[in-house]
This record gives sequence, C-alpha cells and structure tokens, in this order.
Amino acid sequence: MTVSVGVIGVGMIGKDHIRRLTTVLAGAAVVAVTDVNAEEAATVAAGLPGAIAHPTGQDVISDPAVDAVVVCSWGPTHEEYVLAAIAAGKPVFCEKPLATTEEACRRILDAESAFGRRLVQVGYMRRYDASYRALKAAVDSGEIGTPLMMHCTHRNPSVPGHYTKDMAITDTAVHEIDMVRWMFGEEIVATTVLTPRKSRLGGELQDPLLLLLEMEGGALIDVEISVNIRYGYDIRGEVVGEEGTAALGESNPIVVRKNNMYSGRVPQDWRERFLRAYDVEFQEWIDAVRDGGEFGPSAWDGYAAAVVSDAAVRSLFGGDGRVEVKLGDKPSLYDATT
Ligand code: NAP
Repeated sequence: MTVSVGVIGVGMIGKDHIRRLTTVLAGAAVVAVTDVNAEEAATVAAGLPGAIAHPTGQDVISDPAVDAVVVCSWGPTHEEYVLAAIAAGKPVFCEKPLATTEEACRRILDAESAFGRRLVQVGYMRRYDASYRALKAAVDSGEIGTPLMMHCTHRNPSVPGHYTKDMAITDTAVHEIDMVRWMFGEEIVATTVLTPRKSRLGGELQDPLLLLLEMEGGALIDVEISVNIRYGYDIRGEVVGEEGTAALGESNPIVVRKNNMYSGRVPQDWRERFLRAYDVEFQEWIDAVRDGGEFGPSAWDGYAAAVVSDAAVRSLFGGDGRVEVKLGDKPSLYDATT
C-alpha cells in the first residue's frame, strides 16, 4: 500500500520533505499540498504527478484522498492543523515545535488522549541519526556504567536576520532538550542559562549561551549554543559514565593528510549533517502509518520540550537563575514515551 500524504506549508523544509517522500523513500506519494502562498503551492503541486493544491490546510486534512498529514507551516499554525488531523482520525507528522505555548500543547495532549490512540509524531530527527542511536545504544548497554553527565555542543556558522534572542533556546537548543530526555529516558527537572562574554559576531544576540539541564535522576547536562561561529555546523555530544565515556564520532567521510596536517570536512549546515536522519525519520513514519506501528517522538515529547524551553527562556531573560521545570500530569496514552 502507498501512503497518500498531504503537506501543509511548502517553504524550505516542506519542499525538502516532499523531495524525500517522492524521490528518496519507498511507500509514499504526496497527493495534496497547501501554503498561504497559493501560487507557490500550485507550482509545487504541478511538479508532483496527480497532486492538487488546496486553498487551506483544513482542506488538505479533510481531503478523502489524504491518508496522513505533514505539517511544515510556521510554528504558531501547528496547533490548529494537528487538532484538525486528530479530529479527522488521521496520522499527523508535525515539524517542531508541536505548538508555541504550553497551553496549546496541552490542548493537543487532551485531544489525542480523548481520541484514545496515538496519531501525532513531532519532528525531532536527532533520534533517527545513526551516531545518536549508537551513542544511546552504548549508554543503554551499561558499558560505560551509570551515566552521570553529558557535554553537548550545538554550533551554527551563522543565523538569518529574523533570528531573535529567544530562538537560541526555542529553535536551536530545543533539539538538545528533546535529545537528552530520549538519551537518558527521563525528564528534565530544572534549567539554568548562563551567559558568557558575547561574541562580536553575534550582533544584538546573546551569543554564545550555556544551558545547564538537570535530569530527574541527578545527571547534569551542559549545552553550548553558539550560532555565529563561522567555521561550520558542528554538533557534539559526550556522555560521561561511571566507568567510561561515549561520544558522537566525527561525521566526515574522509580525512586528508597533507603537509604534516590532517583535515576533514565540517558540515555546512543542519541539512548536510542530518540528511540521513530526516530520511530515516520519514521512512519509519511512513512504515508506521502503513502498518499501524508505533510512532516516534510523541505529543508528550513536544509538550515537555515546550515546557523546558519556556523555563530556559525565563532563566535567560527573567534573571531567574535556576528555573524548575513543572510538567503537568502525563496522560496514560504516553506511558511508553519519554
Ligand atoms: P518557511 O521556509 O518559512 O516555510 C513555512 C511555509 O509555511 C511558508 O511557505 C509559509 O508561507 C507557509 N505557511 C505559513 N502559515 C501557513 C498556513 N497557515 N497554512 C499554510 N502554509 C503556511 O519555514 P521552514 O524553515 O520550512 O520551517 C517550517 C517549520 O519547520 C517550522 O516550524 C520550523 O521550526 C520547522 N523546522 C524544523 C527543522 C528540524 O530540524 N526539525 C528544520 C527547519 C525547520 P509563506 O510562503 O508566506 O512564507
């Protein structure tokens, strides 16, 4: 069976997901698209055999030809489309964030719980990256003993002009926030954001930042966020256990040795670094839709990431120092998810 997908939002990542669904992966067809820019939606649909452009996201969701929905529009629109997909009983892959406020995420949890079965997956793709999966397998196997700390680094060469101060947390660090919950299999209970000397390359931004995340089991995580570091997109992670450490390997395929030096490529951006992770993420999602299998990162994961992000933003801007993370009750539908 081919899964017929409707895509809401055909901007940068929407187009990239359409490319992977139609030319890279098996078992899916994109049959409907929409965008507030109707002309752009029509152009994208014209390039997809049998696809139509709908005026609104609601039309995509209610189209009987659409089996499952992919939401790639702006964050503030996600809640509306995810709720509509749940109401229609259709699986929905929502790019992060699940929604932009804790209350909106809660409404999604309530709606999906009332529906009684998981339909929502949130686009936290690091869980599908081969290096992160190998790191988690090493931690879970116990080979480095009980994990005590994790050092994380998230470096971007530069960010676009519309990147605001809070986005260092809500758009950038949020990937580490989700990843460490998954890596440690437990919730984050408090966060502190520290502000080192500012880079002159960051303009008005407070760049870099240092986040401290406290896990419920007592492990401590530090995350360096640098978004104007110029030399490349560099993602690092090292878990420190009682008996050893395990770290993400370098992602470059070759090392060049020349003139008493050796060098390897640092990825240009997140698309290059996580290209395969997005492919695996979507292939597993298509397979789950088709076979009725388990979905990946849940609405609860989206909710928890939003609550931790809010706490970190308060620590950064409110001068609150350490901020405790207060999650609401976890509906039983999400018992199996971290
Ligand atoms: P983008 O290039 O601005 O694309 C968003 C598209 O959605 C634009 O074409 C926009 O229309 C359209 N849109 C906005 N509101 C809409 C609505 N109500 N209905 C239909 N279409 C609507 O942004 P992007 O970079 O692709 O990001 C989209 C989402 O993906 C964001 O939530 C972002 O956080 C997420 N994202 C995730 C990752 C990841 O690593 N997982 C990476 C990148 C982005 P216009 O034509 O008017 O702009």
